Amino acid sequence: MPDQMNRALFLDRDGVVNVEKNYVHRIADFEFVSGIMDLCACALTLGFRIIIITNQAGIARGYYTVRDYDRLTGWMLDQFSLHDVHIDRVYYCPFHPTAGLGKYKYDSYDRKPNPGMILKARKDFNLALPDSVLIGDKDTDVMAGLSAGVGYNVLLSESLPDIEDSECLHYSSLPDITAWIAGNFRQSR
Ligand SMILES: [Mg+2]
Repeated sequence: MPDQMNRALFLDRDGVVNVEKNYVHRIADFEFVSGIMDLCACALTLGFRIIIITNQAGIARGYYTVRDYDRLTGWMLDQFSLHDVHIDRVYYCPFHPTAGLGKYKYDSYDRKPNPGMILKARKDFNLALPDSVLIGDKDTDVMAGLSAGVGYNVLLSESLPDIEDSECLHYSSLPDITAWIAGNFRQSR
C-alpha cells in the first residue's frame, strides 16, 4: 500500500522548469521559468517529493545525444541544489514513434501522453498518486497524469486549455500555482 504521506509534485521540464525554446539541450539556452524555485521550496515544505518527467524527442530525432542531455540535466540539478531544492529523480523518454532514428523510433509507453514515467516513479518511490500533483504546459502532460491516476493535474498556460475544464486545473503562472498549493495542502511529514 502506498504511504498516504508519500506524494509527489511531478513537473514537466520544457515549459515548466525551463522556458520552452524547442529542443533545449545547451546550458546557455536553459532559462529557468520565473517562480520555479519558490514553487519547489513550497512543495518541499509540504512534504512533496519532486520528480521531473520529460519527453526528449530531440534525442530520437538526432538533434542531441543522451550525453548532451545528461550534461544539461546534471547542471540543472546543481542549480536546484544551489537553491536547496532536492529533485528526487528526472525521468526522460528519448523515443519518438514516427520521427525517431534507429533504435529511437519506438512507440514508448513512457512517452507522454502515456503514463509510463509516472507509473515508474510510483513504483520507485511508493507514491500515492491520488495525493500527488502534476504540472505541465501541454494537454499531453495532463493526459498522462489523468491516465496514471494523479489526483491533481495542473495546466500552466496563458491560453485556455483544449482539454475539458473539469479534467485539470488551469493557471497562467507558477506563482499562482504555488499559491494554490500553499492554500490547499497541509504539511504531511
Ligand atoms: Mg512541456
